[in-house]
Amino acid sequence: MDTYLDHNATTPVRPEAAAAVTGALARCGNASSVHRFGRLARRAVDDARQAVAALVGVTPANVVFTSGGTEANNLALRSVPGAVLVSAVEHASVLDARPDAMRVPVDGNGLVSLDALAAALDGGAALVSVMLANNETGVIQPVADVAALVHEHGALLHCDAVQAAGKIPVSMSGLGIDMLTLSAHKLGGPQGVGALLVRDGLETEPLLRGGGQERSRRAGTENVPAIAGFGAAAQAAGEALSDAAGLARLRDDLETRVLECVPDATIHGTNAPRVANTSCIGLPNLTGEFQVMSLDLAGIAVSAGSACSSGKVTPSHVLEAMGLDADGARNAIRVSLGWTTTRDDIDRFIDAWSRMARTDEAPGEVRRSVA
Ligand code: PLP
Repeated sequence: MDTYLDHNATTPVRPEAAAAVTGALARCGNASSVHRFGRLARRAVDDARQAVAALVGVTPANVVFTSGGTEANNLALRSVPGAVLVSAVEHASVLDARPDAMRVPVDGNGLVSLDALAAALDGGAALVSVMLANNETGVIQPVADVAALVHEHGALLHCDAVQAAGKIPVSMSGLGIDMLTLSAHKLGGPQGVGALLVRDGLETEPLLRGGGQERSRRAGTENVPAIAGFGAAAQAAGEALSDAAGLARLRDDLETRVLECVPDATIHGTNAPRVANTSCIGLPNLTGEFQVMSLDLAGIAVSAGSACSSGKVTPSHVLEAMGLDADGARNAIRVSLGWTTTRDDIDRFIDAWSRMARTDEAPGEVRRSVA
């Protein structure tokens, strides 16, 4: 039986979300149409808007539905003219949205340096983007402290909360965030839908024009089935937040057994606060790519922190930013648990991982990391 431990890549669709998607697909209606069919579609979108807003403690008017986290990050980063600062460990959809942005360093635990941020802000910036939880390590940034600094300097704060929402309680206003990104498929909704939440009174410049949808902040017919699924997933994920303690026990057990088996393995980010589901494990002399392929052959799905969407493996920019050399940044895998994970999954992972970590059978060139 295959074991899926790659929930940070995408997590299985929750049954509530699947039912909402199929229910919406079975109905016809454009949410902009004024007739009854349109009004029903509009109601599905409005209900979802309410649920998504509630997950991060805002009102429905703050929600702009997008095609996913990538689009929401691009919308946020490209809607503010002026200089931008980003943490060095952001997702590519933040880093590449504004290649001109100055990167603020993180420490060895993956936490953004507040001193470096303050110094960079002294140089002038209009917008800062710091994520809430990192997709590779699970490290949680001190976003409330970041927000206080950013606002002292008169700048705006965008926060990519894609890997945090549904895993920890998130209050957009409590953390002082001006714009916040969510993605449905990381919390049990369908792929291809997300949202940018924009605080009251803040105007954003649309990326897509040609329609008045989403209060003219994102043109294009709303993806009603996906949005309905997002809403159902947001509600279910919010109700299941207390399951995090159980996930943390499974993750901690996994890490303890990994270190018992190979004492010189490293758990990256372990000295910082982390979301309960993520473990980034470095193994000397075995590339992440090799580990992922080897575990896949054993029926275990994980990912290499360093793998990008093209499948090409480069050293992880997150681990490099945390001070690892190129080998260290290549030799890690990300194991991410989720709402379907059981103790048996952990046992199967440990069984396969320890066999892989101890084996000397693989040819040297494949096993060894490239300098
Ligand atoms: N931000 C983070 C932290 C992510 O992990 C991801 C997806 O991996 C994204 C943004 C992009 O989200 P989406 O897949 O919805 O475009």
